Amino acid sequence: MPPAVSPNVVRELAAVVGAANVIVPGDERLVVFGTDWPGRVQQVPALVVRPGSTEEVCAVVRVLAREGLPIVPQGGNTGLCGGAVPSQPDREVVVSLARMRRILDVDTVANTMLVEAGCVLQQVQQAAAEAGRTFPLSLAAEGSCQVGGNVATNAGGVSVLRYGSIRSLVLGLEVVLADGTRLDMLSPLRKDNTGFDLKQLFIGSEGALGIVTQVSLALHPLPVETVTLMAAVESAGSAMAAFERIAGTFGARVVAFELLDAASVDAVVHHIPGARVPFEHATPFAVLVQLEDTLATSSLASQAEALVMQLLEDGICNDACVAQSGAQAQALWALRENITESLRGIGRVQKFDVSLPLRRIPQFLTELAPGLTREPSLRLFVFGHVGDGNLHVNVVAPTGTADSAVEFLDDLVYGLVSSHGGSFSAEHGIGQLKLGAMRRYKDGHQLRVMHLLKNALDPRGLLNPGKVLPA
Ligand SMILES: Cc1cc2nc3c(=O)[nH]c(=O)nc-3n(C[C@H](O)[C@H](O)[C@H](O)COP(=O)(O)OP(=O)(O)OC[C@H]3O[C@@H](n4cnc5c(N)ncnc54)[C@H](O)[C@@H]3O)c2cc1C
Repeated sequence: MPPAVSPNVVRELAAVVGAANVIVPGDERLVVFGTDWPGRVQQVPALVVRPGSTEEVCAVVRVLAREGLPIVPQGGNTGLCGGAVPSQPDREVVVSLARMRRILDVDTVANTMLVEAGCVLQQVQQAAAEAGRTFPLSLAAEGSCQVGGNVATNAGGVSVLRYGSIRSLVLGLEVVLADGTRLDMLSPLRKDNTGFDLKQLFIGSEGALGIVTQVSLALHPLPVETVTLMAAVESAGSAMAAFERIAGTFGARVVAFELLDAASVDAVVHHIPGARVPFEHATPFAVLVQLEDTLATSSLASQAEALVMQLLEDGICNDACVAQSGAQAQALWALRENITESLRGIGRVQKFDVSLPLRRIPQFLTELAPGLTREPSLRLFVFGHVGDGNLHVNVVAPTGTADSAVEFLDDLVYGLVSSHGGSFSAEHGIGQLKLGAMRRYKDGHQLRVMHLLKNALDPRGLLNPGKVLPA
């Protein structure tokens, strides 16, 4: 078979971005760009192109569109649904945003920041902190994921309770369309009701409608006081009772409320040197809570300690630890943030990122466990941003387990989620790994409108084919 991309086209692309920024067949880096973070999808791209500016993205897309070549936008490649890697081998061109990492403006009057899409999330957080502000999106992949990828997946993370997902933090966007047109929706105005709010279309569109090249972000004041605590609870029901009391008392000061089951915590303790559980006795579940205040009017720590005492007295939790230093807080967070990494490599991990109405969570977990006994070698790990209803259900089978032995899991988990009124993808998106669930569980009318929008913006289906929308 001839190469998907002719030598003339490679030369043309090299003239736009520089020869060093076109990675061609034979270069072993192509395999890295074609492999997703969990290692579940490996499809070698025909080519990788790394533009350094919006103008270069436009020029690259124009060449690829003229040639009818499929385009896969790639950010930090930390996505968990195979969205940032090709869906077929040797035919698709990865456009990596990694060189576009300039912080273009920080405005502490309007509390806004303008960044290129390839900025790594941690870089954005640091730039905000240096300006005396916070950019509150936070997730365990923040050292690698990019703001463009965060926008494209509408990333959630641990601070959704207080700040929302990134959709609530995006004021403006610049996007390159499938024909190479630059769409400027960058205005950081907080009020602008001039017709359809087009930028919303691209947030969470997983690279299927356009390539995000710049983002205007909303900043927030730095917290003056932060309290981190972990409590041991007997059941998911007790975890939800603790949430009701904590959210009822602290309201918008609750930034994070995470659930960790014993299996997940054990995995971290075995995987991460120095990781330690802060409780005397083993506990089926722990909750990790972060509170923040931007006003130094009252002691958040003493109020939190008083509430913890109440929870202990009322038997809602049976042990608790309020961090007394930044290092202690970090150690508690490490137990949560290292779960995904710790599960990698212990077997064949089947990931379900679901959300449920809060009151249904205990019942959902009660009904899930017996369903798994059909395959005795399976191990269940449950954790997640439970305060906003998001559970990460991970089922691990021994390495080498046949597909046929675990294929019942999709029906089991998604069927239960659906029966409880939940969503089969809370924050990770659809990519190429959840197309079956999309076909089966997404409302048909909504799917039809999504196809209409896709056809209007990308009639030849060149942007991220085989992702998000089932054929
Ligand atoms: C350890 C770990 C923890 C995680 N925790 C969370 C979490 O708490 N919350 C959460 O929401 N996610 C989480 N994720 C998933 C992942 O980090 C997020 O989805 C993240 O937003 C992806 O960003 P990225 O730059 O890596 O995107 P990529 O993986 O590169 O791409 C993801 C999708 O976005 C598209 N895309 C990327 N960049 C662009 C662009 N500039 N323009 C258009 N499309 C683009 C890709 O084509 C792909 O479809 C976690 C992942 C890991 C590995």
